[in-house]
Amino acid sequence: MATLTAAPPAPRPADLSNVHPMDSSRLFMALLNLVRDSDTPAAGGNHRHLIAAPILRRLLSALHFRDASTLKHSRRVGLISVGIAARLGWEDDDLRIIEIASLMHDIGKIGIPDHILRKPGKLSPDEAEYIAVYHRVALALLQACQIHPDVTEIVAQSHGVDEEHLNGRNALSLGARILAVADAYDSLTTRQCFRAPYDRWEALQILEEQSGKQFDRNVVAALGRWLDGPDAARLADERAAEVSIHVNAPVDMETRQNANQLCHVFNHLYLLESLYDAFYVIDANRQVAIWSSGATTMFNRSPHDTMRKKWSRQLVTKSQATTDPVETVFLTGQAVCHGMTIQAGEDAYVDVDVQAIPIQADDGSICGVVELICNGKESKRHRGQFRSLQMAATRDPLTGVFNRGELERRLKELYEAWTSDAGTRFSVVFMDLDHFKSINDRLSHAIGDKVLIDCARLIQDELYSGELVGRYGGEEFVILCPETDSEAAVERAERLRRTLMTTRFADRDDLRVTASFGVAEIHSEDTVGSVVSRADQALYEAKRQGRNRTCVSTADSDSSSDRNRRKAKPTCQHSATITTYVGVEMLQLKLTGFIESQRAKIISVDPRKVVLQLGQGGLLSGWSKSAVERIPVKVTIDITDGPEELNQKSNRRLLLKVHVEPVGRSADDDQFKVRAALVIDQLRSHLMAE
Ligand code: GH3
Ligand code: MG
Ligand code: MG
Repeated sequence: MATLTAAPPAPRPADLSNVHPMDSSRLFMALLNLVRDSDTPAAGGNHRHLIAAPILRRLLSALHFRDASTLKHSRRVGLISVGIAARLGWEDDDLRIIEIASLMHDIGKIGIPDHILRKPGKLSPDEAEYIAVYHRVALALLQACQIHPDVTEIVAQSHGVDEEHLNGRNALSLGARILAVADAYDSLTTRQCFRAPYDRWEALQILEEQSGKQFDRNVVAALGRWLDGPDAARLADERAAEVSIHVNAPVDMETRQNANQLCHVFNHLYLLESLYDAFYVIDANRQVAIWSSGATTMFNRSPHDTMRKKWSRQLVTKSQATTDPVETVFLTGQAVCHGMTIQAGEDAYVDVDVQAIPIQADDGSICGVVELICNGKESKRHRGQFRSLQMAATRDPLTGVFNRGELERRLKELYEAWTSDAGTRFSVVFMDLDHFKSINDRLSHAIGDKVLIDCARLIQDELYSGELVGRYGGEEFVILCPETDSEAAVERAERLRRTLMTTRFADRDDLRVTASFGVAEIHSEDTVGSVVSRADQALYEAKRQGRNRTCVSTADSDSSSDRNRRKAKPTCQHSATITTYVGVEMLQLKLTGFIESQRAKIISVDPRKVVLQLGQGGLLSGWSKSAVERIPVKVTIDITDGPEELNQKSNRRLLLKVHVEPVGRSADDDQFKVRAALVIDQLRSHLMAE
């Protein structure tokens, strides 16, 4: 979890002469030196080798230089993690592992630019993606520095960089679960730009509320026990000491240059990680010195298998060339471009482009080679573009939370999980800002926008259990809560509501914002649309009762709304039979024409039945009076043969039973009838039907 408290700006480095950001050879030299220093044994002698002392010192002082508040946060997380782990019976080296993992968990922030690092509040999706790449880079660097694999595993899992874990092959390790709880506890009890710090009891309560999902129940309980014990006082001491650390910390020139250099190294690795599909560095001893996370995926070999191993082309491909280009680069000092065939699957091979580039010392000697790999067809460049397109397609441009389409897709997934054997329940929370129009009218539309942005961030900041947040439209947000019953969802809504009341918005003291909430938990008779409309109805009830409150759709009100739903449904459907002579093959073609002209979405197709959705909206769509022809509807077409006596070979007749029903909430009956008649007319004309 990111703690992005605003911190005083770091002093600008006075001296950049040590390394120029564009001088990639020098950056690689710095990296190779760092890797070499990691051979120094850890201080203390009888410990297992977890991390070389000079590496730990350099990384932490760079983090301090870069962002003192992240260092302080990491130290407190270390203290808390060790406290929890000790309560769970961990000893000696294991405690040291969790401590180092905690100290290193945000080390990627060394390379993150100021405007993102010091940005208050939640990050935009692009910025979050940017940070994720930095965490991957940090992990590759930690691995290159021979930090103990148990430490890197915890760090990897804490940022979701761990492939095995993501693929569901491994559960989150206990270490990562401890780190997650310690990290969240420290964030909750630290001042954030949106809220005062929670006190210890409130923070524990929030973690307990989420335990079993995001947070491990035993770990949260151990944290509670540790906080009750005498050692927890050290946490307060640590916070008190920070004031003096901050004031007194002198930054000498060497520390500053080292830190600065590390920032450039991180930036450079970031660039390579985002521009190339894979890269690795081979040092003067012909050993692999760094292995990117892209290389792990592309060659299906972990850093564990490759790092510090003697370089051989066999590490990356089976195809054998007479002279390895890496040797040519060492010999000639010239960059070489070459092609390589790599195995992409059981019997699949792909050709990739490789640039082998020398790392040259000031005296001209070659002290390493870096190979940059581009998979021509599916290069990262295209993937990057695809990602930004995908981002644009799923996010609300103003607030960065999910847009309505994406909300709908996620809701469908939750509903499918609910109807599957597992029957995993979920709740839907509707939130609508109170009297929002008056903010626009009284202050300005721009301030209204700022309030919406702040609100979206606040919602994301306050929720911890994998809730999905989206903007439904205007000043309405929807929060989908997986594995959550209505009681827990109401608690969450109430917490949000209280925080909103005490939050300062758009940097103004004269602005108070409240919101009303409606909650519904899925139940056995729900359709995917009805659970949403129940939450919506609960919201209207909250408005009716005077706003700034949460209402829940209870079993009683459910059954009455169910009754209404059932009563309302028949009047809101439209059926017709269409007769056509076009023949089955032609029918397909004609239907395709209809689908294209209507920009319809195909929900399902089989030889005798086609289900389509027409209109922009979907499950969450409202109804706009201005555009009857855009009202979202579901159209089911059943294809049957006409009566046998009329179906001579030459003159085959097909009967299409067409059924139109509304999609979304609160259908207006009259508008729907007009819409349904239009749909059927259009279908008839496409099929040249009677
Ligand atoms: P209520 O308590 O009943 O919800 O009152 P309200 O004023 O919040 O609700 P109403 O639906 O009457 O008004 C919503 C307003 O939200 C109207 C519209 O101007 C404003 N709005 C919708 N989208 C945006 C937006 O993107 N930016 C801004 N600044 N305002 C928006
Ligand atoms: Mg509204
Ligand atoms: Mg409103």
